Amino acid sequence: MKSFGLILWAWIILMLPTQSWAVNVNAVRVSDTAEKSRIVFELNHAVAYTIFRMHKPERVVIDMKHTRLLKSAMHAGLPSATIKRVRHGMHQGVLRVVLDLNQKNLFLRSFLLKKMQGKPDRLVIDLLRKKATDEINVVNKHQHQLVIAVDAGHGGQDPGAIGPHGLQEKKVTLAIAKKLVAMINQQKGVRAILTRKNDYFVGLKKRVRLARQAHADMMISIHADAVKTRNVKGSSVYTLAERGATADKVAIALAAKENAADEMGGIQHQHDEVEDPMLRNILGDMAKRDSLNSSQILAENIIESLKTIGNVKYSVPKRARFVVLGALEIPSVLVEVDFISNPRQERKLRTASYQRKLARAIFQGSQHFLQRMGMMVKTHDKKAS
Ligand SMILES: [Zn+2]
Repeated sequence: MKSFGLILWAWIILMLPTQSWAVNVNAVRVSDTAEKSRIVFELNHAVAYTIFRMHKPERVVIDMKHTRLLKSAMHAGLPSATIKRVRHGMHQGVLRVVLDLNQKNLFLRSFLLKKMQGKPDRLVIDLLRKKATDEINVVNKHQHQLVIAVDAGHGGQDPGAIGPHGLQEKKVTLAIAKKLVAMINQQKGVRAILTRKNDYFVGLKKRVRLARQAHADMMISIHADAVKTRNVKGSSVYTLAERGATADKVAIALAAKENAADEMGGIQHQHDEVEDPMLRNILGDMAKRDSLNSSQILAENIIESLKTIGNVKYSVPKRARFVVLGALEIPSVLVEVDFISNPRQERKLRTASYQRKLARAIFQGSQHFLQRMGMMVKTHDKKAS
């Protein structure tokens, strides 16, 4: 690693004239708050990146594919409370940025923000100080253990949709959820919780509350879809639509149907009650957008993974105002695994093998998301994501 910088500088000189670049880093900004140091890379385009930590000395390494860092970009705000300096180098079109840290016990988190509201595409890396990570880990004995809340739709007096041969959605969702939880819990550093463990009723807001109480880093709600037209099949993935977002009739109808689950359990709430007024005080718009953006990326990763096992009805995530996705600070998605209203799919949904296949696809999508967000450290020779 010591001679690394030199070698990479040599590479820059050799490679610059011939290399074609997909992404420019136009600016690098470092800022400190009481709980974290944040480094933001402003990009002209979304970037494929990987991130990992190295020790002795403490550092964070970020590799960005087909990217170059413009000379004018360096380095507002340095040195910061946690970042001593930022080094960078090039190798075969990969920009490697090394953050030299002046302390251990920092919790690493990273995510991409899409271009919006006049701001460019950004890669954001947060180094959270110990106190902030203590709060994150308050329920986890294991430090930095990630928590995934798995939500089996419906239950108890609310059967959900019912297939032409009588299969109840609540049974399918619980079976898949349990398989998914088992897969997650085999993974080191990640722990799953179920918002419902058996065939009983749980209100939608309680599900959100349970995810929050567990300090979930991600929430996956599992459902099965139903329509009148019998031959419709395939899975789809939903995220929460922001208030006043573009109307998608199918998505709105589906959200209304899934939100009606509470009425089955005798819980009444007003229409469009997703937004938690308390939360608005805790979280700034920025944090909310971060999470909505992460939800979108999580949804995309799960769709990509579902594609590998067969039918995906919509190849991009759709949005609607689902009450169960109301934890705005947690990346949350709702997966409609297939159409229980299709007799063929109903038969498949009954089988443990198809349930396992779906669970596996959702699991892999979620793991890919964690790696992409830098929340789960991957081995060093990774493929770009
Ligand atoms: Zn449902």
